[in-house]
Amino acid sequence: MKKKKRIYEIARELGISSKDLIAKLVEMGMPSLYPANSVGEEEYDLILSLYQDEASDKEERPAPLLPQARKGEPRPPVVAVLGHIDHGKTTLLDAIRRDHVAQGEAGGITQSIGAYQATYNGKTITFIDTPGHKAFTTMRARGARATDIAVLVIAADDGIMMQTIEAIDHIKAAGVPIIVAINKIDKVNANVDRVFTQLVEQKLVPEELGGETIVVSLSALTGKNINDLLEMILLLADMEDLRADPDGPLHAIIIESYLDSSRGPVATAIIKNGTLRERDFIVTGSTCGRVKALIDGRNHRIKAATPGQAVLILGLQHLPTPGMTVEICADQNSAKQLAEKQRDNDRKPRPSREKMSVADLFREAAVKKKIKLILKASSIGALEAAIREIENITVSDVTLEIIHSGVGPITESDILLASSSQDPCLVAGFGSKPDSKVVKSAASHNVSIKSYDIIYDLLDEIEERLTQLVSPESKEIIIGEVIIRDLFHLSIGTIAGCYVTSGKVTRDAHINVIRNGEKLFSGKIASLRRIKEDVAVVQSGRECGIKLEEFDDLQVGDILQVFLTEEVAP
Ligand code: GDP
Repeated sequence: MKKKKRIYEIARELGISSKDLIAKLVEMGMPSLYPANSVGEEEYDLILSLYQDEASDKEERPAPLLPQARKGEPRPPVVAVLGHIDHGKTTLLDAIRRDHVAQGEAGGITQSIGAYQATYNGKTITFIDTPGHKAFTTMRARGARATDIAVLVIAADDGIMMQTIEAIDHIKAAGVPIIVAINKIDKVNANVDRVFTQLVEQKLVPEELGGETIVVSLSALTGKNINDLLEMILLLADMEDLRADPDGPLHAIIIESYLDSSRGPVATAIIKNGTLRERDFIVTGSTCGRVKALIDGRNHRIKAATPGQAVLILGLQHLPTPGMTVEICADQNSAKQLAEKQRDNDRKPRPSREKMSVADLFREAAVKKKIKLILKASSIGALEAAIREIENITVSDVTLEIIHSGVGPITESDILLASSSQDPCLVAGFGSKPDSKVVKSAASHNVSIKSYDIIYDLLDEIEERLTQLVSPESKEIIIGEVIIRDLFHLSIGTIAGCYVTSGKVTRDAHINVIRNGEKLFSGKIASLRRIKEDVAVVQSGRECGIKLEEFDDLQVGDILQVFLTEEVAP
């Protein structure tokens, strides 16, 4: 029989990424393969000759294809385990810990630091051992991607459940590669085939069915096939070509923190790049300190933590927030200053976010030509109808993408998912209102959240706002400038006490809010007054009161540029 070779192996030989190799092969007319797919000897030779040809005429090429410079050293993958409750996440993490983590001191109780490192075939894998997608998304929400690979656990008897779908949507939104672990195959009512079918429905087509999703069937309880899972994790890590520079700048992410009665604030961080050492001055968010001790997943004190490692940090002054990154500072003073600056930022009063961010959201959507939606409805019927309708609407050339939908109220998890989105994302509820905790969380994450009684209200809003913003193109004609001298915070919003420095302000004009030379907001005037009277125009050299539509976050010293719009053909 002829020898087969996997795509990722060939890519490694050629010193290029699997992705590039596959793209090249598609270009040459081959079907799109997955890195774990294999090709026969003939195809292998063909690929080699193809790249040799390219290498030989590389002088003519500005960017040589071979060899490709690789930055840094390989580092262990950081893996998170997600899935529906009771599907076996904890059991799986415990089993891996029991069999693949070298024991600490005899009799020593290993207290979890929120992550541990397992060894398989001489290679290391870092597992975040707080299961659940909340931690996963919190990290993601702050823009720091702690996790490299997500293991989605699905119990073979239960199949895909509500939280499984939620987890899938979170993982997809974070752009993290997924491995499916079908668990509990030891049970008599295990039905792996059914899970396969459900995975296809979720657009996670298993490799066995010609798709791209790596699936391992295992039993966390008996330990069967857990080794296969570890192997697949390492395989995927290889394909992802995870590298880091231990001598480079520190990039570390806090994944957990708590107050220890004897040790004070302690935090677990995952090191993604660089090295963290004892006695380093560090800052994370609004807290700082000097590293008193570093403790690894086996409860060993270490002098330095390197990429891919999870480590407990002692010595911070306050509890840091999970998801925050850690920075090394030159000395105590600069660490303190950075922390204080962040504290001041945190303290700044937040403007009335709800209205402002929905308006902003659509403005951003119009620019990015994309808007993401998370939909929650009170019944499955309502939800399905909403999805159908939304898939039917087209607004100019803006795409609408539903990244998550479900039955029930808007939850914290929806807010986190929205806040982790790179594109503008609206969380919409139909016939269900979020509770005040969720509303507060949305405000603090600056997430746009809105409840509608009927689907058409949402459709109308999307269509109207985007159409307004996208077409036709308009030109701004500046007619005056105003400076804010005073602010009055009233129940209807903020009124700016202004002085017209040049030109004039008219009631029908639009305003650009300029702060430190930067445009913060653009919108309409809601009211224009002179000495308590509504007026149509205020000339240069006079004072007036201005209230803007949908924007209250004004400051004394802000410049308001007054302009009229003239439509021009796009
Ligand atoms: P989690 O909520 O996802 O962390 O689930 P747990 O790990 O707590 O597991 C829930 C239940 O399923 C526990 O009673 C486990 O003993 C059981 N369980 C987990 N994995 C397996 C398995 O592979 N086979 C069987 N039969 N039971 C399992």
